[in-house]
Amino acid sequence: MKVLVVEDEKKIADFMIKGLEARGFAVDACDNGDDALILALTRPYDTIILDIMLPGKDGISILKSMRLKGVNTPVIAVSARSELDDRITGLDAGADDYLAKPFFVDELIARLHAINRRTTGAQLNLRRVGELSLNLATREVLVGEVRIDLSPREFNLLEFLMRSPGRVYTRTQIMEYVWQYDFDPNTNIVDVCIKRIRKKLAEASPVNFVETIRGVGYRMIREPS
Ligand code: CA
Repeated sequence: MKVLVVEDEKKIADFMIKGLEARGFAVDACDNGDDALILALTRPYDTIILDIMLPGKDGISILKSMRLKGVNTPVIAVSARSELDDRITGLDAGADDYLAKPFFVDELIARLHAINRRTTGAQLNLRRVGELSLNLATREVLVGEVRIDLSPREFNLLEFLMRSPGRVYTRTQIMEYVWQYDFDPNTNIVDVCIKRIRKKLAEASPVNFVETIRGVGYRMIREPS
């Protein structure tokens, strides 16, 4: 796990970095708000530990800018005061958790693991393109708020295409995955199945989620334009 520690008090920063590295985390550190925002917007971190009182931009405005730009990296807001104010302001600004100083490294690690479980769990179970979402755990398909009823094959096909939006799959690749070799390569089962999926999705949205690539196959769009 790669973590960014944003903390201007050197002693506290060193204590966090040492503790995290000892437990196998890869750590970047930053001691001011301006650099922290640049790092948060440009580098992929699993979690950012963000002090609220900082030289340069403060933690709350960093958080707000991140969320405004669609950067959803989990953030644990940290502040010197255990006042409820900072906690509420931090969570309101988009923090995933809040920790009051002083704290034990073990508590920080526990929070990091909890956030990681939540975010990876959600990502693993959900595929999403625009308004279309597939829940792999419940096998529920939604377009916006509308539930779409797909057969198991239709679901598997859509799920396969949604693994890599924008990537083109040939009919053979789709057949191999969805029908698992139990098919006659000369049939048009893929086209028939795609047609049924499109028809069902079209009842809920005008967006053409599954594009035909002439002479090649099909692909899931990246995001509706
Ligand atoms: Ca500080």
